[in-house]
Amino acid sequence: PAAVVMSARARARSSTVASSGAASTRRTTLRRAAPARKSHHRARRTATSAADAESPRVSSITSTDRVNVISEALPYLQQFAGRTVVVKYGGAAMKDESLKAGVVADLVLLATVGLRPVLVHGGGPEINKWLERVGIEPNFLNGLRVTDDDTMSVVEMVLAGRVNKSIVSLINQAGGSAVGICGKDANLLRGRVLNPDLGRVGEVTKVDTALVKAIVNAGQIPVIATVAADEENGDSLNVNADTAAGAIAADLGAEKLILMTDVPGILRNPKDVNTLIEQVDSNGIQALVSEGVVDGGMIPKTQCCVKCVGEGVSAAHIVDGRTPHSLLLELLTDQGRGTMITQ
Ligand code: ADP
Ligand code: MG
Repeated sequence: PAAVVMSARARARSSTVASSGAASTRRTTLRRAAPARKSHHRARRTATSAADAESPRVSSITSTDRVNVISEALPYLQQFAGRTVVVKYGGAAMKDESLKAGVVADLVLLATVGLRPVLVHGGGPEINKWLERVGIEPNFLNGLRVTDDDTMSVVEMVLAGRVNKSIVSLINQAGGSAVGICGKDANLLRGRVLNPDLGRVGEVTKVDTALVKAIVNAGQIPVIATVAADEENGDSLNVNADTAAGAIAADLGAEKLILMTDVPGILRNPKDVNTLIEQVDSNGIQALVSEGVVDGGMIPKTQCCVKCVGEGVSAAHIVDGRTPHSLLLELLTDQGRGTMITQ
């Protein structure tokens, strides 16, 4: 009967959405009939449905292709096993729910195969949404937003609350185990005000990753909101998430820092995506900054990459968070992705 011969796509849908239809009833019966193989069955089904649902291309490859792909990742898995990778995630790449779910799935995969991911996140569009909702008027000085005390309260509530906990929840739902903290916890990030006229925007002055190490050692994924404590009075400071991620990566002695953003990497011509710079060293970066090629939000990104590789992180990467699986592409394939910054 038609209901039994489901297409791969329908099967994918019925198993990703926990529906109470005929399909899930049948799965329950199957699972009861063969309890010993329950988890094996479920694992295989989920893998197939996820692949089918996300990428029609994947479903056309053979099982042999599939195991070859896994087998080719072995050298990378061996190289990175037990190594810490700090991932910064924010901006436009955070807007899209399916991209967010993809990033989370990649993090859980990396943790499952033995890497130690640490996630540092920005606020995405949530902060502006809530500032608007509570009626805080934006106030600008020379084009830069002024973070007054009321604004900072909302930033902290949204960043360390809603955004942080929603990422934690997504990771846990995807089968990982995450612990959400902010820079104030255990003195992870301390800072000072950058320019009093701009309010509570700070630069990081001290980093203490003892708590992050403890979380990682406990087999959990730390999820870090970049609210720091003012070193003088403990007040909340909003610090750039790229800079914070770089400082955390250096203090952890991470293998890699990966900054996910909304462009393919550093572009020689920011208006032309075909001008990607695949690899550049610290001197090259400084040249790009002084030539004015690197500008705006790309400046703190490149500067923290340079600082990080100068302090022992073996490479920093700027990758496109809008490309599905950009994390896996960077870490587990020969080609890599985006721009690699070395010392
Ligand atoms: P995020 O939210 O990921 O931190 P930002 O907006 O702060 O993103 O920084 C990324 C932005 O930097 C890009 O969207 C782009 O507008 C800008 N940018 C400036 N110079 C360059 C460059 N040379 N190559 C790529 N992007 C650049
Ligand atoms: Mg930025």
